[in-house]
Amino acid sequence: MRIDGRNNDELRPIKFTRNFIEYPEGSVLVEMGKTKIIVTATIENKVPPFLRYKKTGWLTAEYAMLPASTLKRKNRDIQSLHQDGRSIEIQRLIGRALRTCIDLDKIGEKTIKIDADVIQADGGTRCAAITGGYIALCDAMKTLIDRGEIKEYPIHSIVSAVSVGVVEGEVLLDLNFIEDSKADVDMNIIMNDKGEFIEIQGIGEGASFSREHLDKMIESGVAGIDEIIYDQKLVLDSITKEIGVNL
Ligand code: UDP
Repeated sequence: MRIDGRNNDELRPIKFTRNFIEYPEGSVLVEMGKTKIIVTATIENKVPPFLRYKKTGWLTAEYAMLPASTLKRKNRDIQSLHQDGRSIEIQRLIGRALRTCIDLDKIGEKTIKIDADVIQADGGTRCAAITGGYIALCDAMKTLIDRGEIKEYPIHSIVSAVSVGVVEGEVLLDLNFIEDSKADVDMNIIMNDKGEFIEIQGIGEGASFSREHLDKMIESGVAGIDEIIYDQKLVLDSITKEIGVNL
């Protein structure tokens, strides 16, 4: 039994509040247990120079934590005049993951900006940002269809992510901060609804890990992602039904 009473293979409660912010084309408040993140998807009618005149769009992401989102207050990056390396790593991961589920040539020369702002961190923020980012992205694409700016829904698969780790020899799904800080192995698994892997980050924190633990972590992560995808489908049901896509 874990500190919050969960079984080893149990996710924290997951909740999506769509249209959490009014101005961007898509937005969501995603909660995984005590981790809470606002993710927005905003559209800009231009692309980075390397894509100009190529008749395709782009998707990029930014990630940040509010100072009071962590147990110990975290200074804003502006205080050190450079962005925290961890945030850079995470935002590149979010962008890479979400680019796999969309045909960017179907949106024309537009850039989708995904902004993930952690308002409360309790482990698993990069995974929740990806899972919630998918919801904000879908809402933004529906907005573009409603405005007549794109003809076809460009999303072709669901992207979802979960953390898994080894704590005191046991494989635990969806680590909270206390578990994460005790973990010997920390893994983030990103997959789609076709059962394919998008990215796996597996880190032995100061120790190596066995093949047996690796296999167990993947098994637990895949099962967790199945459950999250079920919730993502439910929350987007109104969009997929209206558009008539099987996602
Ligand atoms: N954390 C923190 N301060 C930081 C970075 C992380 O308190 O500057 C906490 C936070 O709860 C976060 C957890 O440590 O969710 C795990 O951080 P990690 O870098 O493993 O990323 P995450 O699991 O959030 O994707």
